[in-house]
Amino acid sequence: MRIGIDLGGTKIEGIALDDDGRELLRKRVTTPAGDYPATLAAVAGLVQGIEQQTGWEGTVGVGTPGAVSRATGRLKNSNSVCLNGKSLGQDLGALLGRPVRLANDANCFALSEATDGAAAGAEIVFGVIIGTGTGGGIVVRGSVLEGANAIAGEWGHNPLPWPHDAERPGPACYCGRHGCIETFLSGPGLERDHAAATGQTLSAADIARHGQQGDEACNASLERYEERLARALAGVINLLDPDVIVLGGGLSNIARLYANVPRLWGGYVFSDRVDTRLAAAKYGDASGVRGAAWLWD
Ligand SMILES: [Zn+2]
Repeated sequence: MRIGIDLGGTKIEGIALDDDGRELLRKRVTTPAGDYPATLAAVAGLVQGIEQQTGWEGTVGVGTPGAVSRATGRLKNSNSVCLNGKSLGQDLGALLGRPVRLANDANCFALSEATDGAAAGAEIVFGVIIGTGTGGGIVVRGSVLEGANAIAGEWGHNPLPWPHDAERPGPACYCGRHGCIETFLSGPGLERDHAAATGQTLSAADIARHGQQGDEACNASLERYEERLARALAGVINLLDPDVIVLGGGLSNIARLYANVPRLWGGYVFSDRVDTRLAAAKYGDASGVRGAAWLWD
């Protein structure tokens, strides 16, 4: 049995998969905010609860925002800041009495979709999470590409490519720069762009829904969003040339992206034709936790 844990800022989700990848059960608890020892205990409790219910012992993989520093083994770049600087994998391993594998949550998402999801069987997969932020992960021939700095696939803080004059310098980003991809393509980025164009405050989900119902201003915001997503993904295609790009996160539910973005990205990809496929995540919100389980192959 494989156990996967998705350690997020608001909730911790656990899943148990049998040897064929079938889901045995899923449980979730609230993340103890800002409390590292309590977070460790909550993860351990979830694992123990799953093992009691199934009667089996499992391998444990954990996905979380941020990256494990190769130099120190400690977590960095996590938006759950109480985890940064901590030896999370080692501490959990000590609590659970077995080795624990830890990976970035977007890498887990990409691994899940590459293993038995929307990109199953593809050689090079880029998994993108477009939600509160913009994460990315790369899987090559079934394995997560970690990289020398453990940041492979992190495209959100590159500048939006081929910017128009009105997009320069672009919105301020929490990373300290302006015009990052994340400031345009995250949910808050779409909301900010729509508000700037219309003076109207709407959630990303409402912009998508109203656009679908024929609202012209919302439709225009979605068109700008699609054109920017096409540029940002064209930059990835030029560098990585993936077979499949899988979208996850809240904004991946916007159905029109899958027809419109590939129609637009050809204008920016350095190739006479683009065979890269853009696909919606097969497992939706469950992809991250499934990918954490798949960290043990
Ligand atoms: Zn940034």
